[in-house]
Amino acid sequence: MINEINGQINNDLKNNKRKKCHAFFLTCLIGICIAAITGCSIGYEDYSASGTAMDTILTANIRVKGSENGQNVWNELLGESTRLEQSGLSRRVESSEIAAINASAGSEDGYPLSDEMENYLELCLELSEETDGAFDISIGALAQLWNIDEAAENPKAFVMPTDEQILAALAVSGYEKIKIEDHRIYIPDGMVLDMGAVGKGIFLGEAYSVLKESAISGVVAAGGSILTYGYKAGGNDWKVGIVDPFDTSEVIAVLSVEGSGYISTSGDYERYVEYNGVRYHHILDPHTGYPADTGIRGVSAVLTAENELQNGLLSDAITTAVFVMGEEKGIELAEKYGAELLIVRDDGSVYMSDGMQKMAD
Ligand code: AMP
Ligand code: MG
Repeated sequence: MINEINGQINNDLKNNKRKKCHAFFLTCLIGICIAAITGCSIGYEDYSASGTAMDTILTANIRVKGSENGQNVWNELLGESTRLEQSGLSRRVESSEIAAINASAGSEDGYPLSDEMENYLELCLELSEETDGAFDISIGALAQLWNIDEAAENPKAFVMPTDEQILAALAVSGYEKIKIEDHRIYIPDGMVLDMGAVGKGIFLGEAYSVLKESAISGVVAAGGSILTYGYKAGGNDWKVGIVDPFDTSEVIAVLSVEGSGYISTSGDYERYVEYNGVRYHHILDPHTGYPADTGIRGVSAVLTAENELQNGLLSDAITTAVFVMGEEKGIELAEKYGAELLIVRDDGSVYMSDGMQKMAD
């Protein structure tokens, strides 16, 4: 009897424990559900926004740390793009450092560089050397002459440059004529620097720094240039579509990118004008003075972003360079910098490096 009572008490105790356990689990479950809905209570906020910046559409889909505020992070990204364009990189904005350098062309005193600009310019010059001048930010006079940016908006405004004009623009170009000494830059009379090939990549490098402070994961896109940051919730890879140059409403590949990476694309479909049945586009060959014509319609590159801020600039520069250099030399260049490469040829066929192939499977 006593044993039965003891048994009963033990059973009651067990049942009570079980009930308490169920209640505990239920409370936890509800807690987790509420936390998942609000996000913030378990340390994050999902935030999405888009706007225009750097002459293109800027979008962010980010998981912001609970200690931060999504709107503030977005404002920081926008502020960074404005700062880079207005006070740094745009040759068209008078207040920018590049415009001031261009205004100093021919001066014996040169122009004092900010540390930030000096780093960017040194990297650009390194790329020019590595590409035998296929990539060259000193082609500003040539870019102004072709003025494809404007012609792409208003084809009637396009004026075909003469051979003499092209030769004159080439005469004031040439990265090897740029000198950087004691944090000052010296460029010859008439030279115009143009950072159009690296602006978005530089921005994404800065965006990486912003997200490193404030976000758990996310994607930031400036036009076709993309930064993936961290690891997507659920452990899935980021999916990045690469535009088909033959039909820009379609994608030619969807890449699975693991972790943080910079994905850049250059193509003859981005900015161009059709004139007498010929397509004149915005990527210029510094050796001929004409739009590059090496059998390529589009180039995409993927570089890791993990601890490599400069890779934003590099991935952007590499796609422009490969477009000008052509497939064979382009592949060598990409290998040197550890970039995975996708090339869409004139005939529609596609080259992918081994790593790119894996991402596209
Ligand atoms: P992207 O679309 O990144 O390939 O950059 C193209 C832009 O870079 C052009 O609109 C020009 O401003 C500039 N650019 C054109 N050709 C070259 C070149 N060979 N090297 C460096 N920059 C270039
Ligand atoms: Mg580029």
